[in-house]
Amino acid sequence: MLNNKSAIVTGSTSGIGLGIARALAEQGANVMLNGFGDRAAIDDLAATLAAAHGVKVLYSDADMSRPGEIEAMVREAEAAFGAVDILVNNAGIQHTARVEDFPPEKWEQIMAINLSSNFYTIRAALPGMQRRDWGRIVNIASVHGQVASSNKAAYVAAKHGVIGLTKTVALENARSNITCNAICPGWVLTPLVQKQIDDLAAREGISADAAQARLLGEKQPSQAFATPEQIAAAVLFLCSDGAQQMRGAALTIDGGWTAQ
Ligand code: NAD
Repeated sequence: MLNNKSAIVTGSTSGIGLGIARALAEQGANVMLNGFGDRAAIDDLAATLAAAHGVKVLYSDADMSRPGEIEAMVREAEAAFGAVDILVNNAGIQHTARVEDFPPEKWEQIMAINLSSNFYTIRAALPGMQRRDWGRIVNIASVHGQVASSNKAAYVAAKHGVIGLTKTVALENARSNITCNAICPGWVLTPLVQKQIDDLAAREGISADAAQARLLGEKQPSQAFATPEQIAAAVLFLCSDGAQQMRGAALTIDGGWTAQ
């Protein structure tokens, strides 16, 4: 389906981003991986994906809190693939604390990685998409782009910002074949959420299973995690012709979280 297309997926060495990168490669797209992790394991992943699907898979260690590195990553992908047709802004981090206790440096870091990086990648990749008059920008926001939870001020503010940025980019390119949409997952069991489960278990002196059940019970009516593969399926749909008129949407995949 995506033969002859090339993608960047930020934060794709783990969790949801990795699931999206795999799905795009499976569909025939060249992929630039990005994120932190063990270099040998990442090189191995890139080689395995490339061989399995007959696509080019590269890796950039660009830090999404650094605009200069973001620009260089986009230019590197354009030079290696000839284009960046699909941009998935997925890199993100979390920190939990009440506002009055929230460390300012964590606020700045979350704003930079979870929100500003989306602006810088889009700013760098859009001109190429506009020249070719085709592009798919998918921003992985969160249910926390639509509703809040306590102790997540920076994350909630950044994700609300991602949805605003998504709508603006969609409008500015509405008469082209470039679409920009957001996906808003609820709980997905990834290292980012596992840390919250472990913290809750330690804080309350309960088992990891009990902590998992508590997290789901508080927010997610389906009482089940969404999977990276399910988020990736939505990304593939947004890249398809069927989604041509989806513009500036915020698509929830949240087990009913925001239906309540
Ligand atoms: P994860 O921790 O498994 O993966 C995060 C990825 O981002 C990793 O590849 C990591 O190396 C990368 N990353 C972190 N800081 C970076 C930086 N400065 N520069 C480049 N890469 C960086 O997390 P995940 O759960 O897969 O989350 C992915 C995205 O999905 C995030 O934006 C997150 O907010 C969002 N999300 C997750 C959930 C969930 O329940 N897991 C729910 C809603 C939204």
